[in-house]
Amino acid sequence: MKHRTPLLIDSHGRILRDLRVSVTDRCNFRCLYCLPETEAAANFYRDRWATVVHSTPIARQWKPKSKILTFEEIERVVRLAVGLGIQKVRLTGGEPLLRQELAILVERLAAIPGIEDLATTSNGFLFPKKGKALRDAGLRRITFSCDSLDRANFQKMTGRDGLHEVLESIRLAQELGLNPVKVNAVVIKGINDHEIESLAEFAQRESLSLRFIEFMPLDSGRAWLKEMVVPGREILRRLQTRFDLRPVQSKNDSETAKRWTFADGRAEIGIIAPVSEPFCGHCNRIRLTADGQIRTCLFSLTEHDLRSRLRSDASDEAIQEYLKTVVLQKEDRHHIGEPDFVQPQRSMSCIGG
Ligand code: SAM
Ligand code: SF4
Repeated sequence: MKHRTPLLIDSHGRILRDLRVSVTDRCNFRCLYCLPETEAAANFYRDRWATVVHSTPIARQWKPKSKILTFEEIERVVRLAVGLGIQKVRLTGGEPLLRQELAILVERLAAIPGIEDLATTSNGFLFPKKGKALRDAGLRRITFSCDSLDRANFQKMTGRDGLHEVLESIRLAQELGLNPVKVNAVVIKGINDHEIESLAEFAQRESLSLRFIEFMPLDSGRAWLKEMVVPGREILRRLQTRFDLRPVQSKNDSETAKRWTFADGRAEIGIIAPVSEPFCGHCNRIRLTADGQIRTCLFSLTEHDLRSRLRSDASDEAIQEYLKTVVLQKEDRHHIGEPDFVQPQRSMSCIGG
Protein backbone atom coordinates (compact mmCIF):
# COMPACT_ATOMS: atom_id res chain seq x y z
CA MET A 1 0.00 0.00 0.00
CA LYS A 2 1.31 3.47 -0.85
CA HIS A 3 1.46 6.17 1.80
CA ARG A 4 0.40 9.43 0.26
CA THR A 5 2.22 11.84 2.57
CA PRO A 6 5.56 13.14 1.27
CA LEU A 7 6.92 13.12 4.84
CA LEU A 8 8.21 10.54 7.29
CA ILE A 9 5.48 10.52 9.95
CA ASP A 10 5.24 7.89 12.64
CA SER A 11 2.08 6.40 14.08
CA HIS A 12 2.20 8.87 17.01
CA GLY A 13 2.14 11.85 14.66
CA ARG A 14 5.81 12.77 15.02
CA ILE A 15 7.39 14.12 11.82
CA LEU A 16 10.94 12.85 11.46
CA ARG A 17 13.48 15.49 10.50
CA ASP A 18 16.76 14.19 11.87
CA LEU A 19 18.79 11.32 10.41
CA ARG A 20 21.85 9.99 12.24
CA VAL A 21 24.16 8.14 9.90
CA SER A 22 26.79 5.86 11.37
CA VAL A 23 29.65 5.57 8.90
CA THR A 24 31.60 2.94 10.83
CA ASP A 25 31.10 0.62 13.80
CA ARG A 26 34.81 0.82 14.66
CA CYS A 27 36.41 3.10 17.17
CA ASN A 28 39.89 4.07 18.29
CA PHE A 29 38.66 4.81 21.85
CA ARG A 30 37.26 2.43 24.46
CA CYS A 31 34.93 4.55 26.56
CA LEU A 32 33.79 2.59 29.55
CA TYR A 33 30.18 3.73 29.06
CA CYS A 34 30.18 2.59 25.41
CA LEU A 35 32.85 0.10 24.38
CA PRO A 36 34.98 -0.83 27.41
CA GLU A 37 38.23 -2.55 26.53
CA THR A 38 38.64 -4.94 29.42
CA GLU A 39 36.44 -6.73 31.87
CA ALA A 40 37.82 -4.49 34.60
CA ALA A 41 36.80 -1.40 32.61
CA ALA A 42 33.35 -2.86 31.97
CA ASN A 43 32.98 -3.47 35.69
CA PHE A 44 34.16 -0.03 36.69
CA TYR A 45 31.29 0.37 39.14
CA ARG A 46 32.00 -2.76 41.14
CA ASP A 47 33.98 -1.17 43.93
CA ARG A 48 30.88 0.92 44.69
CA TRP A 49 28.06 -1.49 44.01
CA ALA A 50 29.88 -4.74 44.59
CA THR A 51 26.81 -6.86 45.20
CA VAL A 52 25.23 -6.13 41.85
CA VAL A 53 25.20 -8.94 39.33
CA HIS A 54 25.06 -7.69 35.79
CA SER A 55 24.15 -9.37 32.52
CA THR A 56 26.51 -10.84 29.95
CA PRO A 57 28.57 -8.26 28.05
CA ILE A 58 27.90 -7.77 24.35
CA ALA A 59 30.61 -9.50 22.30
CA ARG A 60 32.69 -7.05 20.25
CA GLN A 61 32.50 -8.01 16.61
CA TRP A 62 33.16 -5.53 13.86
CA LYS A 63 30.94 -6.00 10.84
CA PRO A 64 32.87 -7.17 7.78
CA LYS A 65 33.64 -4.42 5.24
CA SER A 66 31.28 -6.07 2.74
CA LYS A 67 28.34 -5.28 5.03
CA ILE A 68 29.28 -1.66 5.60
CA LEU A 69 27.42 0.77 3.34
CA THR A 70 29.46 2.42 0.62
CA PHE A 71 29.47 6.20 0.16
CA GLU A 72 27.19 5.75 -2.86
CA GLU A 73 24.69 3.82 -0.75
CA ILE A 74 24.79 6.34 2.10
CA GLU A 75 24.39 9.23 -0.33
CA ARG A 76 21.37 7.57 -1.91
CA VAL A 77 19.66 6.97 1.44
CA VAL A 78 20.31 10.55 2.55
CA ARG A 79 19.03 11.96 -0.75
CA LEU A 80 15.86 9.88 -0.53
CA ALA A 81 15.36 10.71 3.15
CA VAL A 82 15.79 14.44 2.44
CA GLY A 83 13.13 14.00 -0.23
CA LEU A 84 10.89 12.83 2.60
CA GLY A 85 11.49 15.85 4.81
CA ILE A 86 14.70 14.99 6.64
CA GLN A 87 16.51 18.29 7.27
CA LYS A 88 19.35 17.43 9.64
CA VAL A 89 22.01 14.81 9.02
CA ARG A 90 24.68 13.91 11.54
CA LEU A 91 27.55 11.61 10.71
CA THR A 92 28.53 9.47 13.63
CA GLY A 93 29.83 6.04 14.58
CA GLY A 94 31.90 4.40 16.10
CA GLU A 95 34.42 7.05 15.33
CA PRO A 96 33.41 8.65 12.01
CA LEU A 97 36.87 10.08 11.35
CA LEU A 98 38.22 6.53 11.12
CA ARG A 99 36.30 6.12 7.87
CA GLN A 100 38.74 6.61 5.00
CA GLU A 101 38.09 9.70 2.86
CA LEU A 102 35.20 10.89 5.01
CA ALA A 103 35.61 14.34 3.43
CA ILE A 104 34.45 12.88 0.10
CA LEU A 105 31.20 11.73 1.71
CA VAL A 106 30.76 15.11 3.39
CA GLU A 107 31.19 16.87 0.05
CA ARG A 108 28.59 14.65 -1.62
CA LEU A 109 26.08 15.05 1.19
CA ALA A 110 26.60 18.80 1.48
CA ALA A 111 25.61 19.07 -2.20
CA ILE A 112 22.22 17.41 -1.71
CA PRO A 113 19.54 20.10 -2.12
CA GLY A 114 17.35 20.37 0.96
CA ILE A 115 19.90 19.43 3.61
CA GLU A 116 19.72 22.23 6.12
CA ASP A 117 22.24 20.95 8.60
CA LEU A 118 25.20 18.61 8.16
CA ALA A 119 27.20 17.89 11.28
CA THR A 120 29.32 15.19 12.84
CA THR A 121 30.10 13.86 16.31
CA SER A 122 33.68 12.77 16.94
CA ASN A 123 35.95 11.83 19.78
CA GLY A 124 38.36 14.39 18.31
CA PHE A 125 41.46 12.25 18.21
CA LEU A 126 41.94 12.44 14.43
CA PHE A 127 40.47 15.89 13.86
CA PRO A 128 43.82 17.71 13.93
CA LYS A 129 44.77 15.68 10.84
CA LYS A 130 41.43 15.67 9.05
CA GLY A 131 39.59 18.77 10.25
CA LYS A 132 40.57 21.18 7.50
CA ALA A 133 39.61 18.78 4.71
CA LEU A 134 36.25 18.17 6.38
CA ARG A 135 35.55 21.89 6.71
CA ASP A 136 36.60 22.49 3.10
CA ALA A 137 34.30 19.67 2.00
CA GLY A 138 31.28 21.40 3.55
CA LEU A 139 31.10 20.36 7.19
CA ARG A 140 29.59 23.26 9.12
CA ARG A 141 29.21 21.98 12.66
CA ILE A 142 30.95 19.51 14.90
CA THR A 143 30.42 18.02 18.34
CA PHE A 144 33.36 16.55 20.23
CA SER A 145 33.14 14.24 23.20
CA CYS A 146 35.21 15.20 26.22
CA ASP A 147 34.19 13.80 29.58
CA SER A 148 37.14 14.95 31.64
CA LEU A 149 39.78 17.67 31.71
CA ASP A 150 42.07 15.59 33.86
CA ARG A 151 44.50 13.57 31.76
CA ALA A 152 44.38 10.47 33.97
CA ASN A 153 40.61 10.54 34.36
CA PHE A 154 40.18 11.13 30.63
CA GLN A 155 42.27 8.04 30.00
CA LYS A 156 40.26 6.06 32.54
CA MET A 157 36.99 7.04 30.87
CA THR A 158 38.01 6.67 27.24
CA GLY A 159 40.67 3.98 27.52
CA ARG A 160 43.11 6.27 25.65
CA ASP A 161 45.59 9.00 26.56
CA GLY A 162 43.96 11.47 24.19
CA LEU A 163 43.01 14.59 26.14
CA HIS A 164 45.70 16.69 24.49
CA GLU A 165 44.45 15.85 20.97
CA VAL A 166 40.82 16.52 21.88
CA LEU A 167 41.64 19.95 23.33
CA GLU A 168 43.69 20.71 20.21
CA SER A 169 40.71 19.64 18.06
CA ILE A 170 38.33 21.95 19.89
CA ARG A 171 40.63 24.93 19.29
CA LEU A 172 41.22 23.96 15.65
CA ALA A 173 37.48 23.59 14.96
CA GLN A 174 36.95 27.12 16.27
CA GLU A 175 39.80 28.45 14.15
CA LEU A 176 38.32 26.73 11.10
CA GLY A 177 35.07 28.59 11.72
CA LEU A 178 32.90 25.59 12.54
CA ASN A 179 30.00 27.04 14.46
CA PRO A 180 28.89 26.19 17.02
CA VAL A 181 31.58 23.87 18.35
CA LYS A 182 29.82 21.66 20.85
CA VAL A 183 31.28 19.36 23.46
CA ASN A 184 29.46 16.37 24.95
CA ALA A 185 30.30 15.06 28.40
CA VAL A 186 28.67 11.88 29.68
CA VAL A 187 28.42 12.18 33.45
CA ILE A 188 28.86 9.09 35.61
CA LYS A 189 28.52 9.15 39.37
CA GLY A 190 31.79 8.56 41.13
CA ILE A 191 33.80 8.75 37.91
CA ASN A 192 33.64 12.31 36.57
CA ASP A 193 30.81 14.04 38.42
CA HIS A 194 33.39 15.94 40.48
CA GLU A 195 34.37 17.66 37.22
CA ILE A 196 30.96 19.14 36.37
CA GLU A 197 31.92 22.65 37.51
CA SER A 198 35.36 22.58 35.90
CA LEU A 199 33.87 21.40 32.60
CA ALA A 200 31.40 24.30 32.77
CA GLU A 201 34.23 26.73 33.52
CA PHE A 202 36.10 25.35 30.52
CA ALA A 203 33.05 25.98 28.31
CA GLN A 204 32.83 29.54 29.60
CA ARG A 205 36.52 30.21 29.10
CA GLU A 206 36.62 28.76 25.59
CA SER A 207 33.19 30.06 24.42
CA LEU A 208 31.81 26.59 23.84
CA SER A 209 28.46 24.91 23.95
CA LEU A 210 28.94 22.12 26.48
CA ARG A 211 26.26 19.50 26.95
CA PHE A 212 26.12 17.20 29.95
CA ILE A 213 24.53 13.86 29.05
CA GLU A 214 23.01 11.32 31.42
CA PHE A 215 24.60 7.89 31.21
CA MET A 216 22.28 5.57 29.24
CA PRO A 217 22.17 1.75 29.25
CA LEU A 218 23.93 1.37 25.90
CA ASP A 219 27.35 0.15 27.07
CA SER A 220 28.74 -3.06 25.65
CA GLY A 221 29.74 -4.12 29.18
CA ARG A 222 26.08 -3.98 30.25
CA ALA A 223 27.26 -2.43 33.47
CA TRP A 224 24.75 0.41 33.51
CA LEU A 225 22.94 0.95 36.78
CA LYS A 226 20.55 3.76 37.55
CA GLU A 227 22.69 4.51 40.62
CA MET A 228 25.44 5.68 38.26
CA VAL A 229 23.23 8.27 36.56
CA VAL A 230 23.60 11.83 37.80
CA PRO A 231 20.15 13.30 37.11
CA GLY A 232 20.10 16.38 34.90
CA ARG A 233 18.29 18.30 37.64
CA GLU A 234 21.17 17.69 40.03
CA ILE A 235 23.70 18.83 37.44
CA LEU A 236 21.71 22.02 36.93
CA ARG A 237 21.34 22.69 40.64
CA ARG A 238 25.10 22.42 41.11
CA LEU A 239 25.83 24.67 38.17
CA GLN A 240 23.32 27.29 39.27
CA THR A 241 24.96 27.63 42.68
CA ARG A 242 28.23 28.47 40.95
CA PHE A 243 27.33 30.32 37.73
CA ASP A 244 24.87 32.98 36.64
CA LEU A 245 22.94 30.97 34.05
CA ARG A 246 20.09 32.28 31.90
CA PRO A 247 17.63 29.85 30.27
CA VAL A 248 17.59 29.75 26.48
CA GLN A 249 14.30 29.32 24.68
CA SER A 250 14.43 26.18 22.51
CA LYS A 251 14.23 26.73 18.77
CA ASN A 252 11.99 23.72 18.35
CA ASP A 253 10.18 21.09 20.40
CA SER A 254 12.46 18.28 19.28
CA GLU A 255 15.59 19.74 20.85
CA THR A 256 17.00 17.17 23.26
CA ALA A 257 19.06 19.58 25.36
CA LYS A 258 17.66 22.13 27.77
CA ARG A 259 20.01 25.08 27.47
CA TRP A 260 21.38 27.97 29.52
CA THR A 261 23.81 30.74 28.60
CA PHE A 262 26.36 32.29 30.89
CA ALA A 263 25.70 35.93 31.73
CA ASP A 264 28.11 37.20 29.04
CA GLY A 265 26.17 35.18 26.41
CA ARG A 266 29.31 33.74 24.81
CA ALA A 267 29.11 30.19 26.08
CA GLU A 268 26.32 27.77 26.70
CA ILE A 269 25.45 24.81 28.90
CA GLY A 270 23.05 22.12 27.79
CA ILE A 271 21.64 19.24 29.77
CA ILE A 272 20.44 16.12 28.01
CA ALA A 273 18.48 13.99 30.44
CA PRO A 274 16.99 11.05 28.52
CA VAL A 275 16.90 8.86 31.64
CA SER A 276 15.42 11.12 34.30
CA GLU A 277 13.38 13.38 32.00
CA PRO A 278 12.67 11.50 28.76
CA PHE A 279 11.85 13.57 25.68
CA CYS A 280 10.50 10.70 23.57
CA GLY A 281 7.24 12.52 22.85
CA HIS A 282 9.17 15.04 20.75
CA CYS A 283 11.77 12.69 19.27
CA ASN A 284 12.15 13.29 15.54
CA ARG A 285 15.15 11.01 14.86
CA ILE A 286 15.88 7.86 12.99
CA ARG A 287 19.21 6.13 12.63
CA LEU A 288 21.02 4.37 9.84
CA THR A 289 23.66 1.98 11.15
CA ALA A 290 26.98 1.50 9.37
CA ASP A 291 25.74 -1.88 8.12
CA GLY A 292 22.60 -0.41 6.65
CA GLN A 293 19.96 -1.12 9.28
CA ILE A 294 17.32 1.44 10.15
CA ARG A 295 16.72 1.96 13.86
CA THR A 296 13.69 3.93 14.88
CA CYS A 297 14.88 4.42 18.47
CA LEU A 298 18.22 4.21 20.32
CA PHE A 299 16.57 1.47 22.37
CA SER A 300 14.88 -0.42 19.52
CA LEU A 301 15.00 -4.18 19.86
CA THR A 302 14.39 -4.66 16.16
CA GLU A 303 16.22 -3.24 13.16
CA HIS A 304 14.97 -2.84 9.62
CA ASP A 305 17.17 -4.15 6.86
CA LEU A 306 17.66 -1.38 4.34
CA ARG A 307 20.98 -2.74 3.05
CA SER A 308 19.48 -5.73 1.30
CA ARG A 309 17.00 -3.43 -0.43
CA LEU A 310 19.75 -1.01 -1.47
CA ARG A 311 21.63 -3.96 -2.93
CA SER A 312 18.62 -5.32 -4.78
CA ASP A 313 17.16 -3.55 -7.79
CA ALA A 314 14.68 -1.61 -5.62
CA SER A 315 13.72 1.72 -7.17
CA ASP A 316 14.09 5.03 -5.34
CA GLU A 317 10.33 5.10 -4.91
CA ALA A 318 10.34 1.61 -3.38
CA ILE A 319 13.07 2.62 -0.92
CA GLN A 320 11.10 5.70 0.08
CA GLU A 321 7.95 3.64 0.58
CA TYR A 322 9.96 1.25 2.74
CA LEU A 323 11.24 4.13 4.90
CA LYS A 324 7.71 5.41 5.36
CA THR A 325 6.51 1.97 6.44
CA VAL A 326 9.43 1.51 8.83
CA VAL A 327 8.94 4.81 10.63
CA LEU A 328 5.34 3.88 11.37
CA GLN A 329 6.88 1.37 13.77
CA LYS A 330 8.81 3.99 15.73
CA GLU A 331 8.47 3.23 19.43
CA ASP A 332 6.40 5.66 21.48
CA ARG A 333 9.06 5.83 24.23
CA HIS A 334 11.92 4.04 25.89
CA HIS A 335 11.48 1.92 29.01
CA ILE A 336 14.73 2.62 30.86
CA GLY A 337 14.43 1.90 34.56
CA GLU A 338 11.20 -0.09 34.17
CA PRO A 339 11.05 -3.82 34.99
CA ASP A 340 10.39 -4.71 31.34
CA PHE A 341 13.42 -2.76 30.03
CA VAL A 342 15.69 -4.80 27.77
CA GLN A 343 19.04 -3.37 26.69
CA PRO A 344 19.52 -3.44 22.90
CA GLN A 345 21.78 -6.10 21.40
CA ARG A 346 24.23 -3.49 20.15
CA SER A 347 26.22 -0.88 22.04
CA MET A 348 26.06 2.85 21.33
CA SER A 349 29.20 2.58 19.19
CA CYS A 350 27.41 0.20 16.81
CA ILE A 351 24.08 1.98 16.85
CA GLY A 352 25.50 5.42 16.14
CA GLY A 353 24.98 7.95 18.91
N1 SAM B 1 32.88 8.33 18.64
C1 SAM B 1 32.20 9.56 18.56
C2 SAM B 1 32.17 10.26 19.91
O1 SAM B 1 32.41 9.63 20.92
O2 SAM B 1 31.89 11.45 19.90
C3 SAM B 1 30.79 9.46 17.98
C4 SAM B 1 29.98 8.29 18.40
S1 SAM B 1 29.52 8.26 20.12
C5 SAM B 1 28.59 6.79 20.19
C6 SAM B 1 28.31 9.57 20.14
C7 SAM B 1 27.99 10.13 21.50
O3 SAM B 1 27.37 9.12 22.27
C8 SAM B 1 29.20 10.59 22.28
O4 SAM B 1 29.05 11.94 22.67
C9 SAM B 1 29.22 9.69 23.48
O5 SAM B 1 29.70 10.33 24.62
C10 SAM B 1 27.77 9.29 23.61
N2 SAM B 1 27.56 8.04 24.34
C11 SAM B 1 28.14 6.84 24.10
N3 SAM B 1 27.71 5.91 24.98
C12 SAM B 1 26.83 6.53 25.79
C13 SAM B 1 26.04 6.11 26.90
N4 SAM B 1 26.09 4.87 27.34
N5 SAM B 1 25.24 7.02 27.50
C14 SAM B 1 25.20 8.31 27.06
N6 SAM B 1 25.90 8.77 26.00
C15 SAM B 1 26.73 7.89 25.39
FE1 SF4 C 1 33.84 6.44 22.97
FE2 SF4 C 1 32.55 7.38 20.81
FE3 SF4 C 1 34.18 5.32 20.62
FE4 SF4 C 1 31.90 5.00 21.91
S1 SF4 C 1 32.10 5.44 19.79
S2 SF4 C 1 33.94 4.25 22.52
S3 SF4 C 1 31.68 7.03 22.84
S4 SF4 C 1 34.74 7.42 21.23
